[in-house]
Amino acid sequence: MSSELELEALRKEVKEITNEIIRLIGLRLSLAKKINEIKRSMSLPIIDYKVEKDLRNSVINACKKYNVDERFGLRLLNLLIDEAIKAQKISTNEGKKSISVVDMFVLAKRMEKEGKKVIHLEIGEPDFGPPQKVKRATCDAISKGYTHYTEPSGIPSLRESIADSVSERYGIDVSHEQVAVISGGRFSIYASILSTLSQGGEAIVIQPAWPAYIDCIEAIGGRVINVKTNLENGWKPDIESLSNLINDSTELIIINYPNNPTGKVLEKRDMKALVDFATDRNITILSDEVYSDYSFKPFDSILEFHDCKSICVSSFSKSYGMTGFRIGYAISDAETIRKISRIQALASTSVPEFIQYAAIEALKCKEDVKRYASLVRKRISLVCNRLKKMNLSCYEPDGAFYVFPKVSNDRGFDAGKFALDLLKDKNVCVAPGIAFGDYPNFIRISACQPENLLLEGLKRIGEML
Ligand code: PMP
Repeated sequence: MSSELELEALRKEVKEITNEIIRLIGLRLSLAKKINEIKRSMSLPIIDYKVEKDLRNSVINACKKYNVDERFGLRLLNLLIDEAIKAQKISTNEGKKSISVVDMFVLAKRMEKEGKKVIHLEIGEPDFGPPQKVKRATCDAISKGYTHYTEPSGIPSLRESIADSVSERYGIDVSHEQVAVISGGRFSIYASILSTLSQGGEAIVIQPAWPAYIDCIEAIGGRVINVKTNLENGWKPDIESLSNLINDSTELIIINYPNNPTGKVLEKRDMKALVDFATDRNITILSDEVYSDYSFKPFDSILEFHDCKSICVSSFSKSYGMTGFRIGYAISDAETIRKISRIQALASTSVPEFIQYAAIEALKCKEDVKRYASLVRKRISLVCNRLKKMNLSCYEPDGAFYVFPKVSNDRGFDAGKFALDLLKDKNVCVAPGIAFGDYPNFIRISACQPENLLLEGLKRIGEML
């Protein structure tokens, strides 16, 4: 046979095999739906990590037998599992997105347009805005003509200022090459996940969690593995539960302390246990530390743990009241930072030049940050005291902006409906617990409002319960 004919025959065979794979995937999905019907009749949950583990082992064996790269086989398996879960969720209505914080905010804004006065306890945006010096530095930078594109990783002077600031704070040695200046904390997280997680790779998210982690992982075709924590255990992740979920596809663990929504900060020994666990298994930790300046007890950054593969994300939004400036940063090894910077370059070139100059000034405003933190701490303690009087249990936050009380012990309670009714009947907007994971009995109250509004909002919540 001539080479040309052989090539054609091989291509034909590849096409047939590809079609056969698609046919088998279709068959697999219809079996998954049948399994789901049975599970539903037996009141079993959709996700069963034990069954997945067994399947994973059989794929590893099959990869060996048929000479397929194991990592590829596992990635493919995760994509198949994800697709089956999606199909099962759609058929049970679980796929319907729960009401989010932004949904609540949009509804509240609509009511305000209709002339109603809403108390906003849903949004995590400081009401105090940036320090005067930052506002002045922004205007000065524009006047001086700093209105251009910059290096995607940020202007060298800002990268150095950030490196110096964290080095001094944590007694470590970070260089500017380990810093990327990114368009906000949110985008820093997206860029960090995109640069470390492969398609079908698994990322562990500790619940309750800021919903953007899951959205980012899913957007890039990664697999979310949720680890629940609970109020009764002081929102502490259990290393044993975590270790049962680790496998060859686990690439990332995402942590966020001080935590949104619970306010938890891990004790040093618990942080060390978590970091040792990840380091032993060569898993990267992505540590979202945007609330680190609002820690009311000693806070340990991931940067203090040198042996661990990590990315630390932070932002100017919360520390300096600069939410609308859209500037954050990531700190990691120089190679990871190059990858993250490439994503910044690809998506938005760079953070605007004058904003970067404003950020340099912000880093000097240490007294303002302390003032903001003590203001938020006072408000949080006010909220907690009032909740206690209302007989609602909550973890007394170690940091961040929020209180996450349990507002009902009823099994069928629906915090989403509660939040919507509260908004409609009492003009108070809160974030329902389900926006942060499987927490239908909780709501999140943001302490980013003056005390009189916080108290009035709580009074109306009490009236609804
Ligand atoms: N991480 C957490 C935990 C947050 O709550 C937020 C904002 N709500 C961010 C990151 C992102 O903040 P920004 O994009 O404004 O820097």
